[in-house]
Amino acid sequence: MIRNSHAAPDTAVVADWRQSGACRAEDPEDFFPVGATPAAKALERHAKAICWTCPSLQPCGVWALETRQPFGIWGGMTEAERAKILRRRGIRLKTGSDTA
Ligand code: SF4
Repeated sequence: MIRNSHAAPDTAVVADWRQSGACRAEDPEDFFPVGATPAAKALERHAKAICWTCPSLQPCGVWALETRQPFGIWGGMTEAERAKILRRRGIRLKTGSDTA
């Protein structure tokens, strides 16, 4: 998945929930904070606050987990939060070496 995929749906099904996404009018960069600086954490809180108002919160989060999205905030979850959920199921997030 490309970094600015909030604006680039892959399939009609994915596009359906993305078209209702509260992030459509937001800067995609806000959903990809880098690091743990106070500025990055503020951006993370901002993105999550948008997610919590989003009608697509559930399908977005499910999609992010099912596709093991390695970066960004999806469905109100950071990559670390998704990784924690997946680890409990013996699954890891995608890495740069994954081809699928
Ligand atoms: S849950 Fe968050 S990332 Fe997903 S579509 Fe809604 S606003 Fe965008």
